[in-house]
Amino acid sequence: MNRPEILIPAPMLLSVLDALGERFVVHRLWEQKDPDAFLATVAPRVRGLAASSLAGRIDASWYDRLPALEIVANFGVGYDGIDADAAAARGIVVTNTPGVLDEEVADLTIGLLLATLRGIPQADRHVRDGAWAEKSFPLSPSLRGRRIGILGLGAIGKAVARRLEAFDVPIAYHGRSRQADIGYDYHDTPVALAAACDVLITIVPGGQGTQHLVDAAVLEALGAQGVFINVARGSVVDQDALIAALQQGTILAAGLDVYEDEPNVPASLRALPNTVLLPHIGSASKRTRAAMGGLVVDNLRAWFETGRALTPVAETPNPG
Ligand code: NDP
Repeated sequence: MNRPEILIPAPMLLSVLDALGERFVVHRLWEQKDPDAFLATVAPRVRGLAASSLAGRIDASWYDRLPALEIVANFGVGYDGIDADAAAARGIVVTNTPGVLDEEVADLTIGLLLATLRGIPQADRHVRDGAWAEKSFPLSPSLRGRRIGILGLGAIGKAVARRLEAFDVPIAYHGRSRQADIGYDYHDTPVALAAACDVLITIVPGGQGTQHLVDAAVLEALGAQGVFINVARGSVVDQDALIAALQQGTILAAGLDVYEDEPNVPASLRALPNTVLLPHIGSASKRTRAAMGGLVVDNLRAWFETGRALTPVAETPNPG
């Protein structure tokens, strides 16, 4: 039987490319001198697409060009870069990589929270710059006595909460609905959650439904001692309002892993001393990225071998 043909628009882990190459005919679009001409040649035969955030938005314009497309396998649990509704309308299955990165992202979230509160990067610079002999490092804010609000108590939010329980801090949450089996306090709006806590951790999906869920009113409610942590997506926060809140002392500090227009981080944000800024590394360990890549490959294999994907997203369930 002919091996299915897979299109890869942008670079991926070498291990993923190798594994895909063993089972499929793989077209590496980014390596082509004339990608449009190349695409026109192979498009009628392409049945699968392996996507990552580097591929840009995968939407109806891609589906129009790939008439034989059956499956889009996304490298990542967040698939706001893929128009899953348009895929569903055409009977194209979209898969993501849940379950293999939750603990890694939760570890990073706790690290970012502590780094932001205790000024760990700033303290490291204090030593490296030789400033310690001149003056002590200033006293920092503390996690002690703080109340934590988790905006988006899903798979990763729960992994964050499990860790925070060991830190002996009260936890509350907001989602669109209260979860029956969860004992943490529930607040029915982001503003109500922010008003009830001094640390707000955002870990909801990106996309239209959560656009600017954290706005000026939420930051105002978080208050002058409030610490904001975003490991979700940049689109979830009104970035201009966040910068203003940090500049004006409306909130105390922020730890961010994600931004509105990555990899561009505004100079005004980079200039703020009360921030810890990471380059979207929530899941970016060798071990976890390899596991994510493995699931991309396994989804494509399962689809073409059995007609069922392993982890389809909610918008595009497995057929029959
Ligand atoms: P889940 O789907 O398991 O959980 C998402 C949670 O968000 C749910 O509890 C849901 O609750 C809540 N939610 C969804 N929409 C809304 C809304 N409009 N308002 C309020 N709450 C909402 O996802 P994961 O925990 O697996 O991942 C969450 C996101 O984290 C990913 O989509 C991705 O964007 C981001 N992420 C970031 C990473 C990084 O590197 N920084 C790495 C991995 C993921 P309910 O349905 O009750 O509203």
